[in-house]
Amino acid sequence: MTGKVWLVGAGPGDPGLLTVRGLRALESADVIVADRLGARGVLDGLASGGVTLEAEVVDVGKLPGHHAVPQDAINALLVHLAREGKTVVRLKGGDPYVFGRGGEELAHCQDAGVEVEVVPGITSAISVPAIAGIPVTHRGLATAFTVVTGHDQIRELGGGRDHTVVLLMGIGTLANAAMTLSRGERGAGCPVAIIEDGYGAGQRVTVGTLATIAHQAALRSVRSPAVVIVGDVVSLSPLAPAELRAATPAAHIERKATSL
Ligand code: SAH
Repeated sequence: MTGKVWLVGAGPGDPGLLTVRGLRALESADVIVADRLGARGVLDGLASGGVTLEAEVVDVGKLPGHHAVPQDAINALLVHLAREGKTVVRLKGGDPYVFGRGGEELAHCQDAGVEVEVVPGITSAISVPAIAGIPVTHRGLATAFTVVTGHDQIRELGGGRDHTVVLLMGIGTLANAAMTLSRGERGAGCPVAIIEDGYGAGQRVTVGTLATIAHQAALRSVRSPAVVIVGDVVSLSPLAPAELRAATPAAHIERKATSL
């Protein structure tokens, strides 16, 4: 009898941000095929919180100095394990469908006749900025947000500071991205925050503007994994310097209102 594959979003790395349905799937699993980012943190966190999982864990994530298991091999492994009759959890960082190749894994399993169920996860694109007190939309400050990775996508992005941009995998190309965005309607003074290793031991927040952020990131040796968020919503962060906060009248007013 063929088993089943659960495609589970682990959230950003804190076990408290795994869904209840995701936890139930992990508890029922024979094998867990885990990414490093997010997924590893959740498994370690569950273990230290006293949750014992019976499943064997196969780590397909990138370890420092090692290559990640290629996507084709992961796809093949999922089908192979399911055909052995196993209940398989494919545990992926954040949400499986946000730059996570979840759709490809789903299609591969379905094409092979393997039953798949998807359990969404909390994406880092939204939950990691929240650590710094930054909402991706906010009445009066931002009415839309876009999540992007690559330089080409950024070049084609319109919009002003009220259209929040969230960059994933954006550290290597940060200087270019900041330059490109600053030439558009947002301008060089647009606030930016970088949140490294959200919910992890290395969590750190850096706040600046499109003009300053690349230099600040270099000075502080900012490293991946990190979420970069661009737009006036950054001015709501209690970690933003006073001049960035004062630059946004709406934020100012809301803050006054809540302190009354
Ligand atoms: N599917 C994932 C994203 C995968 S792309 C999701 O929904 O979150 C991997 C990128 O996500 C990283 O390069 C980084 O930009 C971001 N990321 C994921 N987890 C993170 C964390 N805990 N802290 C900071 N960035 C994180």
